[in-house]
Amino acid sequence: MAVLDGIKPRVVFKYFEEICNIPHGSGNTKAISDYLVSFAKDRGLKYIQDELNNVIIFKPGTEGYENSQPVILQGHIDMVCEKTSDSTIDFEKDGLELIVKDNVITANKTTLGGDDGIAVAYTLAILADEGNISHPPIEAVFTVDEEVGMLGAVALDCSPLKAKTMINIDSEDEGILLVSCAGGVSVICHLPFELEDASGMTFYEVKVNNATGGHSGVEIIKESANATKVLARVLYAISEKVDYRLVSISGGLKDNAIPREATAIIAVAEDARKEISSVVVELDKIVKAEYHGTDKEIFLTVHKSDAMENVMTEKSTRKIVNTIYNMPNGIMKMSQDIDNLVQTSLNVGITKTLEHEVICSFAVRSSVESEKKELVSRLTSIMNLCGGSVEIQGDYPGWEYKADSRLRDVMIKAYKRQYGSSPKIEAIHAGLECGIFSGKIPGLDCVSFGPQMDDIHTPSESLYIDSVERTWEYLIKVLEMLK
Ligand SMILES: [Zn+2]
Repeated sequence: MAVLDGIKPRVVFKYFEEICNIPHGSGNTKAISDYLVSFAKDRGLKYIQDELNNVIIFKPGTEGYENSQPVILQGHIDMVCEKTSDSTIDFEKDGLELIVKDNVITANKTTLGGDDGIAVAYTLAILADEGNISHPPIEAVFTVDEEVGMLGAVALDCSPLKAKTMINIDSEDEGILLVSCAGGVSVICHLPFELEDASGMTFYEVKVNNATGGHSGVEIIKESANATKVLARVLYAISEKVDYRLVSISGGLKDNAIPREATAIIAVAEDARKEISSVVVELDKIVKAEYHGTDKEIFLTVHKSDAMENVMTEKSTRKIVNTIYNMPNGIMKMSQDIDNLVQTSLNVGITKTLEHEVICSFAVRSSVESEKKELVSRLTSIMNLCGGSVEIQGDYPGWEYKADSRLRDVMIKAYKRQYGSSPKIEAIHAGLECGIFSGKIPGLDCVSFGPQMDDIHTPSESLYIDSVERTWEYLIKVLEMLK
């Protein structure tokens, strides 16, 4: 007996439950991909399944829409598999155990995969429809492994797609239409140094503790402290009072997170504990005051540290400290089209000291391609100044705000008709598959939306039934208006 039986819209929840019964965590998408293929075969719909398990299904336009411009409906077929510590699920082979309580669907002790199973369910319901829904030719694009770097979208061959209009159903806030996202690139800065003998020196560990941290894209707008950048400031301040040599500097645990802690080991020829401490104590007060709104728990410490064999030379010490202190970081530009949107930013994520170089890896993000490139140039230029080099990895395009968008106009109009108010038009400072598709399909007109979900990527993930119903009606209305 299906748990979602009888819940409206019935056809959508029928497919949603079928999907929930097929294990489909990221990297485990063969079964759900084959399910989509047999769905297409059963209905005589043209389809493509690629090596990664991405699937495209084509459906002609309905009566009166045969010659309309085709529309891409897009969502991802993988889900984040999270469970509570007492859950016994095996995500490799078990389906989800759905729970309905009042207006909310959850899964027992696991993520629900409403992100993005609901997109698959909506799209299958439209592909399966026989004559009730009017729509242009549909190119349904189901991608794999969005949750682990958008791998499916990155690899997908878009040449069979004719559409220049794309509705992405991978947003979680009903009433918000997303119209732009950031592109990104990792820039790894290599700062070489030279060593000298450290005999007779005294060593100290200087540390920045307990910054708030957060996602380096979505949360960069809070302008909280980056522990590595704070540490560089402290090291520079110490250098104005004490002649020291740097031994190592490190900070951050993840490339896409704002570092919460950063540590440096420094060495001095004579005991300079008093001078170093007084700088650290003073900056501790200043940093706490400057970040009182974002980093209430931040504090600086200095301790004596174990002796090392080598230290950086005076020249290398000066070079490394000054370079990290001067590297740009944080918000570079706000959007002039969308309120409160960070358009361009960068964050130094992981910093570490290897045998002969310090490495700082930056996540550069922008919804404007040229600004992203410009920041890469700036980092390269700084590296040129200090005899370092840059390494570029994982470049993906942004999704720029389109001043003229027929799709957005239609979706706003349809929204006003149904809801009697205007939707919010928003953008996010992080990556979405829409960015990948915008890079591959020149002139793509795209909007992302979806029904209300809470706590995605956690075992509390919740999908709201009434929102699914309203959003379904809305999608049908939009397709009808795209004649
Ligand atoms: Zn998603």
